[in-house]
Amino acid sequence: MQQWPLHALDGGYENVPFKVFTQRDLDRIEPLQTLPEAMRFEMKVVSTVLPFRVNQYVIDELIDWSNIPADPIFQLTFPQRGMLAPEHYDRIAALLEAGADKATLNAAVDEVRHALNPHPADQMEMNMPRDEEGNRLDGIQHKYRETVLFFPSQGQTCHAYCTFCFRWAQFVGDKELRIAASEASTLHNYLKRHTEVTDLLFTGGDPMVMKTKHLKAYLEPLLEPEFDHIQTIRIGTKALTFWPHRFLGADDAGELIELLQRMVRAGKHVAVMAHYNHWKELDTEAAREAIRSIRSTGAQIRAQGPLIAHINDDPDVWAKMWKMQVKLGIIPYYMFVERDTGARGYFEVPLERAWEIYRQAMQRVSGLARTARGPSMSASPGKVEIQGVTEINGEKVFALRFIQGRNPDWVQRPFFAKYNPDATWLNHLEPAFGEAKFFFEDEYEAIREGKLAAATEA
Ligand code: SF4
Repeated sequence: MQQWPLHALDGGYENVPFKVFTQRDLDRIEPLQTLPEAMRFEMKVVSTVLPFRVNQYVIDELIDWSNIPADPIFQLTFPQRGMLAPEHYDRIAALLEAGADKATLNAAVDEVRHALNPHPADQMEMNMPRDEEGNRLDGIQHKYRETVLFFPSQGQTCHAYCTFCFRWAQFVGDKELRIAASEASTLHNYLKRHTEVTDLLFTGGDPMVMKTKHLKAYLEPLLEPEFDHIQTIRIGTKALTFWPHRFLGADDAGELIELLQRMVRAGKHVAVMAHYNHWKELDTEAAREAIRSIRSTGAQIRAQGPLIAHINDDPDVWAKMWKMQVKLGIIPYYMFVERDTGARGYFEVPLERAWEIYRQAMQRVSGLARTARGPSMSASPGKVEIQGVTEINGEKVFALRFIQGRNPDWVQRPFFAKYNPDATWLNHLEPAFGEAKFFFEDEYEAIREGKLAAATEA
């Protein structure tokens, strides 16, 4: 096996300081000052409602400032006027222009945020497990039998924010909308009791914003025999895009690489679930070095990300990205459909178009890049993949299947929806062939009512 140099361990990479900018700093971002005043005001309005955070690496190395506003990474990180519905935009803009007091502005902002479906797919009540006394176990989601999602409290932010983020509600400081755990013991106790769980997914925010010592507190105990049932540890992150120096020259980067190596050597399958939207994210020296460093530990990198208008709604972008990923040793894993929350009106792509982009991109890559599944909707009943548009007995339909379901028995069962060229999410689809309901609907409703009733009683 080839031994890559461990730069982080060697100390062979310089410690680049992390410099971050939020809404308050819009006027301090140098390249923005060359843009028209009206455009900068629009950014202020939108970032009053939706979270904004960017860092110097993204500004300097990922964005092409000669291609504004079309540059995909600019669209990925900087607020755009179209991200708010016109009535919401006008309301907040008028308040800012009038110099409204803080309380009035905050009240309006809260109302707009709550109109943006902050918790898609019933996340708050449907997926959170409870202890024996019925108390909600904050920070843990257990939606599918074998997989537990964990939201460590120190990992509930990101090195920069994606404008389309479906977890945006967590970043706007509204405690009621946060789903995070502060205790490693909450996770460990839960996993000890649930031996059916084989996969643990650390997510956020971005768990890689955590100091290595915090990650260690969560991960190292999992090497004890009582956690032998946990075979796979996945870490969802966009740090390979937004801050690859996390794996290179940061203070505790060497310790992080060592930790990953130790988990792998102890027999765990460690998978870094890297969020990518565009090949440009792979195209810097630091990004490639960070990928090499992670791969040198034996951990895998799997790539996933949503299909987003203004950023990557183009088969060539996906084909090039998948090819580059394979070349760098990353496994293409998922193409997601943009979720039904936040600024989705600006970013969504009709399901039919999403499938066309997926299909055309697949046709342009070799077998090793065809491991990406999708386009997939992470809806409340499960992950539903659009397999295609076809015609059966003269009726034009969407062919669909569950990749993952609240009931494992639903997985891989094909089902059909009436063709609808405007549909952008599962709830826009109706059963085909005159059926009243999809095959899973009654069972899903029963599961849903059970969970919601438990949530109300607690
Ligand atoms: S990296 Fe993930 S969690 Fe963070 S802003 Fe982007 S989509 Fe959201």
